[in-house]
Amino acid sequence: MHIYAKIAKNEVEHTFDEIKTAMIASTKDGMSATDNLYDWSKSFLHHIQKFNSVPFSSRDIDDLQLPSNIYVKELNQILNSNLEGIKNETIEHFKNTTVNNVKWREDPYNKIIECLWGCTECCPFCHEPCQYSDKEHVIQGNIHKCIQHRPLGLYGFMNEENNMIMLNSCNRLVRSPDEHLRHKHEYISEKCRTYYQSLFNGWEIRPFVDGNECQYWKYIMCRWKDQLQQFYGANTNDIDDEEWKSITVEDVVRSLNEIYICS
Ligand SMILES: [Zn+2]
Ligand SMILES: [Zn+2]
Ligand SMILES: [Zn+2]
Repeated sequence: MHIYAKIAKNEVEHTFDEIKTAMIASTKDGMSATDNLYDWSKSFLHHIQKFNSVPFSSRDIDDLQLPSNIYVKELNQILNSNLEGIKNETIEHFKNTTVNNVKWREDPYNKIIECLWGCTECCPFCHEPCQYSDKEHVIQGNIHKCIQHRPLGLYGFMNEENNMIMLNSCNRLVRSPDEHLRHKHEYISEKCRTYYQSLFNGWEIRPFVDGNECQYWKYIMCRWKDQLQQFYGANTNDIDDEEWKSITVEDVVRSLNEIYICS
């Protein structure tokens, strides 16, 4: 049996157990009362609703065409003899449902991806994605926020005077908003300037510099130093930092785990 059928079988068996329990309970309730099918079904509804697993409502009871010549005991016998068959049929239905013939009422893949992917906004400066996993966070009053920020040189930020690639991240930038920046791509530059003027509006960026941050991006910048220089026409001499060059792949993996998984 495939996993989907196994889960469904569990649920179906569980639900049918609840139906049986509700039937027994309502029959007990009715012992002293009249042999009235309508009263019995009302009582059944009361018991089954307590379990909260089968979405029965009073409408289902009202719509029932209850035969007038049947006693509660008989109805119970009929139901009991049929329940097992209905249960097996239901389980069979799930067993026969495979990846190839399943019909979703709502595409679960998109829902899962959307939930896992979270907020798709990126920091206007360093492009690090927002850390919130639900898209509604802004409406709920939490502005966008990043777990860490990337060195700005990665996206072509450089010193206006000497074209030196920027090694600082956004956390540093908010500390010194008068720092001169130059961006290779004018379009992004315009966009950034607007954001810059509004002082990172809509983003929570804490002003601090932590040496252990961005290990991954420091490693990447060292690794692709020449390409960064060619692509942005920036001076990349500052990347020749002894500390940056000493970062190993193991350091990077550890740092990413610490920052993204343990935080
Ligand atoms: Zn259940
Ligand atoms: Zn940033
Ligand atoms: Zn966000």
